[in-house]
Amino acid sequence: MANPYPKEGSNVPAERNAARRPARSGPRPQHHRDTRQAILRGFTNRCPKCGKGHMMRGYLQIVDRCENCGEPLGSYPAADGPAFFTITNIMLLLIPMIAATWVWFRLSPFVMLVVLSALTSVMTLILLRYVKGAFVGYLWAKDEQDPGA
Ligand SMILES: [Zn+2]
Repeated sequence: MANPYPKEGSNVPAERNAARRPARSGPRPQHHRDTRQAILRGFTNRCPKCGKGHMMRGYLQIVDRCENCGEPLGSYPAADGPAFFTITNIMLLLIPMIAATWVWFRLSPFVMLVVLSALTSVMTLILLRYVKGAFVGYLWAKDEQDPGA
């Protein structure tokens, strides 16, 4: 029986196979990038490479290039990752917050809904910026560039 999942390129003409891959000229350059340092620098809105330039302009906009060292920070696609991590962590905090407000304050369910919604929204918006910086720092450390950029 024929293998329904042949290895890439086995029966595929070379030009079709090449079209599927993102264009990269030559082998990937080898980088030694300190992941922990890159995440910490990103967390504090600094360029993961030099630690001096700003990573973000405005609230969440990643700059195209570092103002200090010229590193192309705009080509590291964070996409939905930061929002996912932020929401997941805030939701994990929400469970003990619901329990605590219920036990300590005995608020009516409607007041709890309003108060906790406002509180988690503010916490999410504050945390998102830090998480996005750390996320782009991680992508930079792993050299996960957007192939389309
Ligand atoms: Zn830099």
